[in-house]
Amino acid sequence: MRDMSSADLRKRRRQLLGGLPPFERIMRGSLVERYKRCGRPGCHCANARGHGPKHYLSVSATGQRPQMDYVPNASHAVVSEYLANFHKLREVLNEICAINTELLRRREEFD
Ligand SMILES: [Zn+2]
Repeated sequence: MRDMSSADLRKRRRQLLGGLPPFERIMRGSLVERYKRCGRPGCHCANARGHGPKHYLSVSATGQRPQMDYVPNASHAVVSEYLANFHKLREVLNEICAINTELLRRREEFD
């Protein structure tokens, strides 16, 4: 970024805005897989790793246990997409902030 011209930085900033995923299609957390034993006598899962995989959305907050929400298979693809969108948006936010800080350092217009 340091070797990019200020004009290129502004151009990059505009390009980043153009590639944003839709802001309402985001979710924070991560998908985890769990295999559960059902406890029914004689079920094959008693001697195996359990039924599954079942998917859960795990959302961490500092100082708390992660919150786990069951994700039905029908929603799995959409939840994956929302999580990826969140990461993309966060990357873009960070990069735009870095560009603006760099422009500030150069005593350039960034507004
Ligand atoms: Zn079972």
